[in-house]
Amino acid sequence: MNILVINCGSSSLKYQLIDMKTEDSLATGLVERIGIEGSILTQKANGEKYVVESPMKDHTDAIKLVLDALVNDVHGVIKSMDEIQAVGHRVVHGGEKYAKSVLITDQVMKDLEDCAKLAPLHNPPNIIGINACKALMPNTPMVVVFDTAFHQTMPEKAYLYAIPYELYEEKHIRKYGFHGTSHRYVSLKAAEALGKDIKDLKIITCHLGNGASVAAVKNGESVDTSMGFTPLEGLVMGTRTGNIDAAVITYLIKEAGYTAEQVDEILNKKSGILGVSGVSSDFRDVEDAAWNRNEHRSILALDMFAYRVKQYIGSYAAIMGGVDVIVFTAGVGENSPEMRESILEGLDFLGVQFDASANKVRGKLTEITKPESKVKAFLIPTNEELMIAKDTLAFL
Ligand code: AMP
Repeated sequence: MNILVINCGSSSLKYQLIDMKTEDSLATGLVERIGIEGSILTQKANGEKYVVESPMKDHTDAIKLVLDALVNDVHGVIKSMDEIQAVGHRVVHGGEKYAKSVLITDQVMKDLEDCAKLAPLHNPPNIIGINACKALMPNTPMVVVFDTAFHQTMPEKAYLYAIPYELYEEKHIRKYGFHGTSHRYVSLKAAEALGKDIKDLKIITCHLGNGASVAAVKNGESVDTSMGFTPLEGLVMGTRTGNIDAAVITYLIKEAGYTAEQVDEILNKKSGILGVSGVSSDFRDVEDAAWNRNEHRSILALDMFAYRVKQYIGSYAAIMGGVDVIVFTAGVGENSPEMRESILEGLDFLGVQFDASANKVRGKLTEITKPESKVKAFLIPTNEELMIAKDTLAFL
């Protein structure tokens, strides 16, 4: 039983074919520059890289090439498309309607279109990818897995902003939260690692990548998360500011002469680790500048990042009435022992007994607190594709 997982961006497409018997990835691939000159597909399978450079005018062309690459005589991993039993699509925004993954129907497609105004950069390419797949594989069941769905269990007091209630009712302005598939996957893994039922645990999951968010997962349900109406709220990120006094925005527009578009660009693309350090949005570059060149702004950017994550951990422990386990995942969470240490430093009062030697690890499921620690901390590599494939399998 093989499931193809598709994650479509505006000019790119990531895919993975997963054998659900073993949960092994048979092939992973990335198509870039769709609809632009220089379109390229790179597939990795059986330890080999297969590159196809071919014009792709749209996502249908791209998906055709993906299917060709998967069944390729030399570099492919399956003999025919019949060996793909279902397709799971990652979709960013499911609005308030979808608290779970769903089998694609005409009604679902209509709802996705309706949600597009809430995620104008993300949902439209997701929809294009689904339509392209449906055209090429009309008889293959397809499922959508939403980034927002896991957080639909948040209570009203957590997801509402204290603005006039009509703005929620009429404009749907509220916190939705993102990275839900990752938070769900690592919280389930944490329960499994502890040998406990997730329904008996209070978990704080820290998805720390270029985009970053924290979630409070109580008894298996997300009860709060740091990203909001859009993925701009919350933590300091690679290029995003995270939390900021909303008055700064009106000040920049009214007093400093910026346009709304410029402010949008500053907050989403020029802020965060990049904006503070002035070096890069990539944590590796900023760590290098901080540690090897002792650059103040890079040291500050990393300190601000850790400080904000620590604030959320304290806040989420408070709202859940405690915490049993803290999980680190995604690019930075999995690969920066120093960042994990900065975040957990000084949390002894909460019951976290950090284990510095166990923490010297990258990319592998590891307990990074001492065995006697009341609150456990783990590094757990995320696997959103596997979670999407599992959700898809559940419909077959
Ligand atoms: P993601 O968005 O989850 O792919 O994470 C990307 C981020 O992970 C980038 O900002 C990288 O700088 C960061 N990252 C990857 N490897 C490392 C590493 N070895 N040390 C620190 N940060 C890393």
